[in-house]
Formats: sequence, C-alpha cells, structure tokens
Amino acid sequence: MNPNNPKLKSWVEVPENSDFPIQNIPLGVISHRDKESVVATRIGDTIIDLHELQKLGYLKDLTFDDDVFSADSLNPLLTYGKQGTRDLRTAISSIFQINNDLLRDRDEHSLRVLKKAADVSMLFPLCIGDYTDFYSSREHATNVGMMFRDPKNALLPNWLHIPVGYHGRSSSIILSGQPIIRPKGQQRIDEQKPPVFGPTRLLDFELEMAFITYDGRPLGDSISTQDAEDFIFGMCLFNDWSARDIQKWEYVPLGPFLAKNFASSISPWIVTLDALEPYKTKGPKQDPEVLDYLKYQGAKNVDIHLEVCITPDKGEPNTVSRSNFKYMYWNMAQQLAHHTVNGCNVRAGDMMASGTISGPEPSSYGSMLELTWRGSKPIKLNDSTERKFIADGDTVTMTGYCDNGEVRIGFGEVTNKVLPAKE
Ligand code: CA
Repeated sequence: MNPNNPKLKSWVEVPENSDFPIQNIPLGVISHRDKESVVATRIGDTIIDLHELQKLGYLKDLTFDDDVFSADSLNPLLTYGKQGTRDLRTAISSIFQINNDLLRDRDEHSLRVLKKAADVSMLFPLCIGDYTDFYSSREHATNVGMMFRDPKNALLPNWLHIPVGYHGRSSSIILSGQPIIRPKGQQRIDEQKPPVFGPTRLLDFELEMAFITYDGRPLGDSISTQDAEDFIFGMCLFNDWSARDIQKWEYVPLGPFLAKNFASSISPWIVTLDALEPYKTKGPKQDPEVLDYLKYQGAKNVDIHLEVCITPDKGEPNTVSRSNFKYMYWNMAQQLAHHTVNGCNVRAGDMMASGTISGPEPSSYGSMLELTWRGSKPIKLNDSTERKFIADGDTVTMTGYCDNGEVRIGFGEVTNKVLPAKE
C-alpha cells in the first residue's frame, strides 16, 4: 500500500497533532542505553531502532548491508539512492500498519525494536560533504536589497534569472539542542572610523529549510529539473545563524564568510521528499521567463507551515514569525539543476539550504533583520523586554509542518540557545 495513504493507521500510538504519524516515517540517527549510534525512524513518540528491525529479519526482503543501520550517519543508506530509501519507507509502513500482527504481537521483538523518544538521544544524522546556501525567497532578497542598496532597484539584475547561491561550510552545521556561542569578528560600526573587533552585536537567525542529496551524476554531467527529485532524499529545518555587523563589513565582493560559518543548525529527523508529495503546490509565477534548463513541469513547491519562536532565559516562548516554504521563488528542482548545469557533481549527504524564507506579510519575514527592519522597529516580547536582534540567553526555535486537511506531518524542531561570546 502507498505509505502516503491518509487512511493508514498504526498499531503504535500517535498523539493528536503529532508531527510523526505513520505517513511520515522520517529517518535519523539515535543513541540509546545499548548502542552508540543506530539509524532509526519515529511513529508518534516511539522511536524505531532499524538496526534491531534488520537483525530480527523484518527487512530481509530489502538488500541493505548489515552495517547500514548501525552506521553513525545516514550516508551509507543514501548510497542506495531513491529506490533504496523508498523501499525502506514502504517496508516500515507495512510492518507498523494497524492490522499487521507480525511484530505487533511479538513482545520479545517489539521490546528490542521500540524505544520511548524520551529515552534516546538524537545524533547529527549526516556526514555532510558539501553545503550550499541559496537565496531563493524573492521577498527576502527584496527586503535586503531595500535596506542595504536601492529601494527602487532592490533585486540585483541577475536575481530573477539565476537561483543565486554560495558555497558554505559544513563543519559548523550542528544539531538542534547544541548551544550557539556568540561569534566575534570585525565590524565597522562607525563608517567614518576604522573597524573594531568584538562579539557581534547583531546576532540573527535565518528561517530556512534544507534538502539532502543522494549521489548525483559524475563530474561534468548535469541533472535536469525533470530528474532533480530523483536525487533529493529529504528535508529538514535549517537555521542559518548570521552576524549582521560582521556580514555588512566583510561581504564585498565575495559574499558572506565569517558572518555565517560559525554555526547553522538543523532539526534531527529528515523527512523524505516522498512523504512530502501530498503537500506539493505550485510556486510563484516566474517572470521574466527563465532559461530552458530552469523550466520545469508540475507542482514543485511544498506547502510547509513554518514558525519561529524566541524564548528568553527563564521566559516564555514568543512567536515572532509565521512563514511558509511555498513562497520560495526558486524551487529545489531548479536549484539542483542550476547547481549541476556546469557539470558540478553532488554526493550523497550534501546539504542545500533554501535561503531565508520570507513571506509577503511583515509577520512572515524570516529574520530579525527584516522583522525589526534593521533594528528600527524592535519586537516587544511578552516579558516586556524588546529585541532588535538575538540576546544572550535567548533560545530560538523553528518548527514546520504540513497539513492538507487529511494528514498532518511535521519536522519536529530546531532549537538552540545563545550563549555569551567566549573571553
Ligand atoms: Ca542563509
């Protein structure tokens, strides 16, 4: 049966409004009392140890090597490509369907396979070789252009023709839950004076989503928009932490450097593109017409509700932005086609982030830079303090989910607390 069938129910309990009904089946890497690392999935608040499932023979019709599920990342699994992860998701969906008694009625097996979410630790799920950050929200690019350049010509001449992006750094992509240490760097606070050095005063988040690739084509070959989704494994939430003062001083002419590479954080579960299929939607009309290699057919955007929350130290959460992934001007298929059109190769476990996802309304902007319009309109929090940017002790939490009225699936969260700069 199609794992996306909205009628499917699981014998594993799923709380109402859970991000993880049986229609999701995300993949991640966990550790628990008995194991340092193991590939896992999740239904409701129950974690499923896929290594145990494999050892007990429940995945015997699939052709995975034994060590794929005891690896410390999803990378070995990703080398099996789209068909591999698709077959795995279908098999898991079948094992956990409400009427399938194979595992359901064998307590000695289910005790080994099932763990409570509270009893496991999430690990960083990937070994990311290369990381690329796009800049694909028209609203975000327009807002930034209005603030820093010319309000009348906010978009640069290339923006409507190219999914603009840059190569980032993978070593500092971290997991939800890990603290963010306020970065230090050069800033030019006073335009009339030389630069100064110190902790950033303008620490910001960027609300993004990222996709993860399978092995692409050999160096020299390209991936078309039509084939692109065959090379995309799944998605996670992505916070591209940014230091705006460092960025402003350093970014000319080669783009951001130390303002971005101190940390980006991701949510731990990767939701497959297959699971997102029922939530596909059309993107914004692209005008002027794009070049042939960027043309595409069908609905390539995804309707994903996104939220950003700031929680001050010992305070209550404040929702500061509600946006949606569907606003993206350039879709993932176009991004991957563009990335490889020159023959650049991508590898299993590469990560490509969307760029800040801002919507049309000021309440849907995806960064403090835009929400407070460079600090000119501070946000009042429910403890009566104000924020122009992110303060030490603040926790920034991003969540995302899809809901088509039949089934809701979600991404969990990416949440990180900001600690003061090191001495
Ligand atoms: Ca970014």
